[in-house]
Amino acid sequence: MLFASVIGHATLKAKLIGNIREGRVAHAQLFIGPRGSGGLPLALAYAQYLLCQAPDAADACGVCDDCRQAVKLEHPDLHLIFPIYFEDKKPRTCDHLTPAWRAAVLSEPYLDLDRWRDHLSGGNKQLRMGVGIAQEIQSRLSMKSFRGGYKVIVVWQPELMDVQAANKLLKVLEEPMPNTVFLMVCNEPDQLLSTILSRTQSVKVPALKPGEVAEVLRVENPELSAEEAMSIALRSEGDLLEARSLVQQGEEELFVFFRDWLRACYTGAVPTAAAFSEGFHGMSRDKQKALMQYGLYIIRQCMFHWQGAHELVRTVGQEHEFVEKFAPLLSLESISGLRVELETAHVHIERNAHSKVLFMDLSYRLMALFKKAR
Ligand SMILES: [Zn+2]
Repeated sequence: MLFASVIGHATLKAKLIGNIREGRVAHAQLFIGPRGSGGLPLALAYAQYLLCQAPDAADACGVCDDCRQAVKLEHPDLHLIFPIYFEDKKPRTCDHLTPAWRAAVLSEPYLDLDRWRDHLSGGNKQLRMGVGIAQEIQSRLSMKSFRGGYKVIVVWQPELMDVQAANKLLKVLEEPMPNTVFLMVCNEPDQLLSTILSRTQSVKVPALKPGEVAEVLRVENPELSAEEAMSIALRSEGDLLEARSLVQQGEEELFVFFRDWLRACYTGAVPTAAAFSEGFHGMSRDKQKALMQYGLYIIRQCMFHWQGAHELVRTVGQEHEFVEKFAPLLSLESISGLRVELETAHVHIERNAHSKVLFMDLSYRLMALFKKAR
């Protein structure tokens, strides 16, 4: 992957490249960033830069043999380590799953564990990194560099290593080898052994800026207005994966549904609320969950507005108008009640509750909440 293909992070990219050009390549680096921020694409771009025969001040060349192989994640000196499922009679190493992981990353460089799970069609099985993987790392280290240059080991989600594997990895990190670089990519550094943390140089990857996310969304979905793209970008909090899935779930549709349903609850219009529960019943489970999450987001914005913390309100356009009109009708009690109700409904949807009954019940509860608040 080229640095140019990584969204945003201009300052960080310049710093990483500057370090390489000045010969400061730490042998173990930990890219730490929230989901959808781009830790993995950055690590892969860094790897390609190290492997490239003719990098310039801004990026790898993109055309040399090494770049061609690195971009397909097929470079013989680029070793890929990631969590796997433990299956009977299958080796507990990454090797046999490398083509699958490669395909997953090439189709979505901002890969997260859920997408990787989907890719493996493994349902809810636990993704793990056991001692087999630690041994695999050791055996890759004992191999000579094929091209005579750097050997790069990308370890994705090292926080899923069990203690035994992490301790083996620690031994490796304690004895740096020349021209061998570990690039680890994690979301939750708190879950790593502190000894591993202390032996790596951290590269903090911040969440993407709303403007950067909005721009990507507009390129990918030309039908989105600038306002809609910005609204989704703000709600995604810089998580590109979240932003994309919000687009798929139909931003506008969720807003209109939620606003009109909430109005029906506020005015106590039972027949209208009943019609909404039919509509809710017709949605996919993912969309029902998205609606609850969306509702929670709007209520949070209402709370900021209600408390006078206007600088925290993230809505734009018609969403913003709605929040401005709706927030003053609420009390602190009804806001917290709404949050509890929507969160509970979200949990029940996950547990496969009957959606029509659940939604009608939720509507009655909100009506009661609003009545009390008046
Ligand atoms: Zn190159």
